[in-house]
Amino acid sequence: MTTTRFAPSPTGYLHVGNLRTALFNYLITRKVGGTFILRIDDTDPERSKEEYVDGIKQDLEWLGLTWDRVERQSARLDRYAQVADNLRDMGRFYECFETPTELDLKRKKQLNMGKPPVYDRAALKLSEDEKAALRAERLPHWRFLLDQERIEWEDGILGHTSIDAASVSDPVLIRGDGQVLYTLASVVDDTDMGVTNVVRGSDHVTNTATQIQMIQAIGGTVPDFAHHSLLTGPQGEALSKRLGTLALRDLRAQGVEPMALLSHMARLGSSDPFELRVSMDELVEGFDITHFGAAPTKFDVDDLFPLTGRYLQTLDYDHMAGDIRALGVPDDIAPDFWAVVRDNITTKHDLTAWWALCQNGADPVIDDEDRDFVDQAMALLPDRPFDQTTWGNWTTSVKEATGRKGRGLFMPLRKALTGQSHGPDMSHLLPLLQVIKAKP
Ligand code: GLU
Repeated sequence: MTTTRFAPSPTGYLHVGNLRTALFNYLITRKVGGTFILRIDDTDPERSKEEYVDGIKQDLEWLGLTWDRVERQSARLDRYAQVADNLRDMGRFYECFETPTELDLKRKKQLNMGKPPVYDRAALKLSEDEKAALRAERLPHWRFLLDQERIEWEDGILGHTSIDAASVSDPVLIRGDGQVLYTLASVVDDTDMGVTNVVRGSDHVTNTATQIQMIQAIGGTVPDFAHHSLLTGPQGEALSKRLGTLALRDLRAQGVEPMALLSHMARLGSSDPFELRVSMDELVEGFDITHFGAAPTKFDVDDLFPLTGRYLQTLDYDHMAGDIRALGVPDDIAPDFWAVVRDNITTKHDLTAWWALCQNGADPVIDDEDRDFVDQAMALLPDRPFDQTTWGNWTTSVKEATGRKGRGLFMPLRKALTGQSHGPDMSHLLPLLQVIKAKP
């Protein structure tokens, strides 16, 4: 049975980069049936905040990425301590005393000598007496002792991947202040929770190498790993610093529709063509992780808006009734209002402006050379009620009276009535206009 997890740290709100990870894990599980776990990686009590836990859940709910179970690492600290004891008993866990400054100095020296900055395992050479003396003045941290061999796996996106463990520092699993670090917690959880597939960003590739050894050490089954490429901006620039401005809640506030965002992210960086999917089932159906490439993936937030517009155009009135009523559109004209404006909006926010136009009328835009023509036309505008034939009949009589035709006839009237040179079919829009400011 397939089990995946999305494991954010609640130290901020979710952004498009996290979404990729969440979505891939979700789709893999839903495609074959299985369990999708939302795992809150909150072993850092200082940086983890409850408001972010709530925010993460709200953002996933908004997108419809429903989880089957929530796990919290802060609730499993005893279990991590137990596994740490086991590793200690196996001789795979060792006590170190270097301060951050000392470690930094070591790294600089190694780099100066042209060597990779890998921890030199000096702590393994300390005698019991030396350790006792250090313990009296410092809090020890604990590292996992890697087997210095080549670690290999078949990556679901990167293909065959191999990392020489000798080029990686033994990972610190428990800090001097006792805080359990992500690597230990994640490995214990993946093992205990029977996680079968791990999809995450390619910034985790080295972690994966060390985690494979740790999973083997604690007797777990190594899951299938896949590392997706990191997102860049439209010009290929690093996105990491801008991700804060690409928070899912900000996109939501800007009117991006969940299905537009999900459709885009489920294809971005893959060999499959972009396609708007209007339901989660369709999205699940068309998803194949093996179609994704390892190259950095360009993300342009502007792509989400045309897709949002296209998505909204697929919705019938019933889907939109709530939003339209909330604007105050009377029920008797609400379905017509939606039919008229649906092709002329990018996000739901645009409905507000269209309704304001219908309700209050627009300030007419009249070019000087059209002033007399518009006055003449307005005098011919029939009295209410308007229906779908009004515009056609009116413009025919204006044409006869003025001799104008085509664009020269229609455009000044559109601009006088709506204040804009583009918009919905006027024969449909006119009956919705409650006020016509251009009419004297
Ligand atoms: N909390 C980790 C992160 O957000 C999880 C990584 C993983 O998927 O193992 O980077």
